[in-house]
Amino acid sequence: MSIQKNKPKKSGWNSLRGLFSLIGASKTLYILSILALAVTVALEMSGFLVIRHVVDKVIIIKKGIKPLAFWAGIFLLASLGRGFFSYLHGKGKARCAETVTRQIRNGLYDHMQRLSFSYHDRSQTGELVQRATSDVDEIRRFFAEQIPAVCQILFQFSINLAILLFLEWRLALLSIIIVPVVGGISSWFFFRIFEAYDSFQDQEGHMTARIQENLSGIRVVRAFARQKWEIEQFREINREQLKRGLKLTWWNSFYWPFGHILCGLQFCLTLLIGGYMAIDGAISPGTFIAFSSLVNSLIWPMQELGRTMAELSKSHVSYQRIRVILDEEQEDLISGNSSDEIHLKGDLEFKKVKFGYTENLPVLQDISFSCPRGSKIALLGTTGSGKTTLVNLLPRFYDYTGGEILLDGEPLKNYSRHMLRRQIGIVEQEPFLFSMTVRENLTYSVDRKVSQEEVEAAAKAASIHHSILSFPEGYDTMVGEKGVSLSGGQKQRIAIARTLLKDPRILILDDSTSAVDADTEARIKKAMNGLMKNRTTFLIAHRIQTLKQADTILVLDKGRIVQQGSHEELIRRDGFYKDVFRLQTRMEEELQEELQAAGAV
Ligand code: ADP
Repeated sequence: MSIQKNKPKKSGWNSLRGLFSLIGASKTLYILSILALAVTVALEMSGFLVIRHVVDKVIIIKKGIKPLAFWAGIFLLASLGRGFFSYLHGKGKARCAETVTRQIRNGLYDHMQRLSFSYHDRSQTGELVQRATSDVDEIRRFFAEQIPAVCQILFQFSINLAILLFLEWRLALLSIIIVPVVGGISSWFFFRIFEAYDSFQDQEGHMTARIQENLSGIRVVRAFARQKWEIEQFREINREQLKRGLKLTWWNSFYWPFGHILCGLQFCLTLLIGGYMAIDGAISPGTFIAFSSLVNSLIWPMQELGRTMAELSKSHVSYQRIRVILDEEQEDLISGNSSDEIHLKGDLEFKKVKFGYTENLPVLQDISFSCPRGSKIALLGTTGSGKTTLVNLLPRFYDYTGGEILLDGEPLKNYSRHMLRRQIGIVEQEPFLFSMTVRENLTYSVDRKVSQEEVEAAAKAASIHHSILSFPEGYDTMVGEKGVSLSGGQKQRIAIARTLLKDPRILILDDSTSAVDADTEARIKKAMNGLMKNRTTFLIAHRIQTLKQADTILVLDKGRIVQQGSHEELIRRDGFYKDVFRLQTRMEEELQEELQAAGAV
């Protein structure tokens, strides 16, 4: 499901106010930078008054070079002042915009780290990436470009108008009759662009998600030779992106010619009437020249208004897209028993536990069993029977909805998620390693300083030490794209060593690996045995050899426990476990026979 669905529809003003509130502590600097902009614009506009004065009082009456040089000096000073204030403005706004962007990006990243598992289940990684990058960048542009542009337009317009009114008020009023028309068109345009951009960004989110998913699953794509299908799917998405992009540009291209024509008409009118007044002697030639230049610079901000409004609507969209994420409730990590002093013993009891990802669809029902400290519980069942869901309740990735889980005699929900996750270790079926060095990956599980001896001891216990030494830079070798590619078995043993360093009281192991050779399997098994010692362990497994070592085996089917007992007990009863046992034993016997036959030849 896309993360766009539960989007709050906020009014434009609320959203703008929200956007402004992001400025926070940089407010004063930002206001100062906008004031510097006002001074820059005022100095620029004053140049037209100098021109008027020079034409009327120096050139026409041929006053000589001295006054000309004087006014040229004034002009130069004004230009220097303009340059200086423009520098202050540019520096101030850039600093504020970068600070705000950094804060939003940090805040968003922080927030994403604390969102619930169910939120991440619902959202696509690519879309989240897009919001943390391109949408955040749009907010930067709001402060660095759009607000200064709006202010510049307002300053230019009001200063210009004031000068025009001062020069000749009737002509000035004539020059602004177009303003309400441009304003009306710009607002209408704002909403069209808003819709078009929202839809464009949405599609870009889909596209980013698609690329991200495809690249993460590139092996699957290749293995099933689905490249052609994937390319076709991507082209389809890209075609839609083009369609929406063209719509966005269409609104832009539609607006500009319209604006040009309107403003051109306005200028013609001023030229005709102003020119006539100058011929008639109602205004001086200097006033006429200054007037026509000023009218020209009055028209530019009006045209710019449309473009800036369109840009503003983009920030408005991006802000809402970010707001949707920030409004999502964070996972409560700390409430409950959270003391660092607690050392779990690992006694667990499930009493009629019930859980469903959605309200009306139970995934686990009536789960009851007990698990004394240090014991091993194995879970067996077909895919989708609820094994992963069951173990995910322990670190409170999801909270059970009925019954009770008791940990050391206390309801699980009384413990904080943070504390539980610190004391529960998980080795996934396909462990995720980060693009960092082997050592950094190993010590990722603990937030204290770990000595090299400790790291090596964990790696030795997980039977991975020698493999690590054979890497080009040993423990400093980079993992992933920039370094070595690890085999599935190596990754799993690094994950085991990582969990060993964490030294958890409760352990969750997903031992569903089947595609490893006998030698690797023996190593993994050895590593796992070391890890399980003296810890309450939940083991998801399919092989009888692994299941056998558990104190209790739970057979799950459609979210219910259908069989429960030790290996010896279960092979004596008819049911799923006995069937699996028979099947695997027969397969092994056949394999042995084949090997012997091959050996005999
Ligand atoms: P197993 O580990 O035995 O293969 P799971 O616990 O992964 O089974 O899945 C049990 C059921 O819950 C399946 O029907 C699966 O589709 C569903 N399920 C698993 N994870 C989620 C999730 N994050 N959101 C919604 N349904 C899920």
